[in-house]
Amino acid sequence: MINYQHEPFKDFSLEQNRQAYTDALALVESYLGQDYPLIIGGERITTDDKIESYNPANHSQLIGRVSKATKEHAEQAMQIADATFKTWKKVKPESRADVLFKAAAIIRRRHFEFSALLTKEAGKTWVEADVETAECIDFLEYYGRQMLEMKDGRPVASRKDEFNRYDYIPLGVGVVISPWNFPFAIMGGTTTAALVTGNTVLLKPASTTPVIAYKFMEVLEEAGLPAGVVNFIPGGGGEIGDYLVDHHRTRFISFTGSRDVGLRINKRASVLNEGQIWLKRIIAEMGGKDTIVVDAEADLELAAQSIVKSAFGFSGQKCSACSRAVIVADVYDDVVSRVIELTNALTVGSPEDVNNFVGSVIDAAAYKKITEYIEIGKGEGKLVAGGTADDSTGYFVHPTVFVDVAPDARIMKEEIFGPVLAVAKAATFEEAIDIANNTEYGLTGAVITKNRAHQEYAREEFHVGNLYFNRGCTGAIVGYQPFGGFNMSGTDSKAGGPDYLTLHMQAKTTSEMY
Ligand code: GLU
Repeated sequence: MINYQHEPFKDFSLEQNRQAYTDALALVESYLGQDYPLIIGGERITTDDKIESYNPANHSQLIGRVSKATKEHAEQAMQIADATFKTWKKVKPESRADVLFKAAAIIRRRHFEFSALLTKEAGKTWVEADVETAECIDFLEYYGRQMLEMKDGRPVASRKDEFNRYDYIPLGVGVVISPWNFPFAIMGGTTTAALVTGNTVLLKPASTTPVIAYKFMEVLEEAGLPAGVVNFIPGGGGEIGDYLVDHHRTRFISFTGSRDVGLRINKRASVLNEGQIWLKRIIAEMGGKDTIVVDAEADLELAAQSIVKSAFGFSGQKCSACSRAVIVADVYDDVVSRVIELTNALTVGSPEDVNNFVGSVIDAAAYKKITEYIEIGKGEGKLVAGGTADDSTGYFVHPTVFVDVAPDARIMKEEIFGPVLAVAKAATFEEAIDIANNTEYGLTGAVITKNRAHQEYAREEFHVGNLYFNRGCTGAIVGYQPFGGFNMSGTDSKAGGPDYLTLHMQAKTTSEMY
């Protein structure tokens, strides 16, 4: 990859960066509570029915009110996207990539503002928000370059008096359904991968975080994206989500979200509807139940630090979060006591305060689900840290650790998507890997070991799409650790990887006789 390096993170020990973040929070404050329209074919459409976005860490604070699309809007957007595809697919790949590079430059200039909006709308701490803004820039820079690399197809052989070519052409209209946990980076990455490859897009952002998506639409427009290439249609899954997935003109669906919604999309998309002349393609990134395995021969401080950071960063609301630690018996007690110490030392509170490591969870439904799992955990393991929650001003759940949990307990197997860690003991390293593999997911995992043979064993046997050694299991970097998982974690469509764009295209062979 020519000339690509990931965007550096901001150093908040520097006074100038702390000041810039504080100023950015004030800037975002100044535009809270505004109304945002749909954008269909470049036209702003305001509806009476609104999605209200609130600050999860301060739930009486309205972030914005976003118009809510109906089926009629979805149909209108589909027709525009279908018509725009005819012209957009003919725009040179270089020009399409330039839109991404310019959008990256705009976001880089407003880096602190977008991070501050993530703090307000998604409850991300400064560090988590900063990393996400950087990741959004990375997707744009990486996919833009990737498109340039692919624009002349791939080499194939030709015999005498023959000239063969192998080119990639776009697919058509893509429906992008993006998540609230990376409402800027994943929303931006999935949208731009679809458009840079020559497709047009119907973007349905998560209903809990639509304002940041609207701001991204403005960036794309400023970067010169023609009207109708991306159409912004927030709305309900049951209403417009199903409608778009079912639509006979939908060519592909790029989805990031829960296992259950992913399965629903997969099922509906497999039905042939009237007028449909293709198999819909699905790009899906679903859940995870990710494990850090600690070997007997390991740096135990590194193990405890990796577990705590991966379990509780962004309150465990990452598909990649460490929700299980499996520790070999010889070192179990030592690692557990250090994990408890580190967890109890975590600062929980408003993500607007740079000193807090853990902010809120995303909404009332998440709060309820997580606290219910904490109750389940009390019957399945020994509660050694956290276990408390408070939703009086925001949805705060304290980092919670259960130890001595059986490998087949519910909190060891079901995705909680919150700051809850289950810890299990294994007799041997091999048994630890077996336990790590005992879920239906296969997204990320980490192994903390100094034993090279065990590392190689895990490389073969630990069945996850992203396997890390001697580090935590979150924080994949675009272009460095392409991200995506096996089994119920999705289609292993590696976001930020060298094959990702091809998923949005189809290959065409042409063969000429001289
Ligand atoms: N890519 C992120 C990471 O490596 C996780 C993305 C997600 O939660 O969907 O931590």
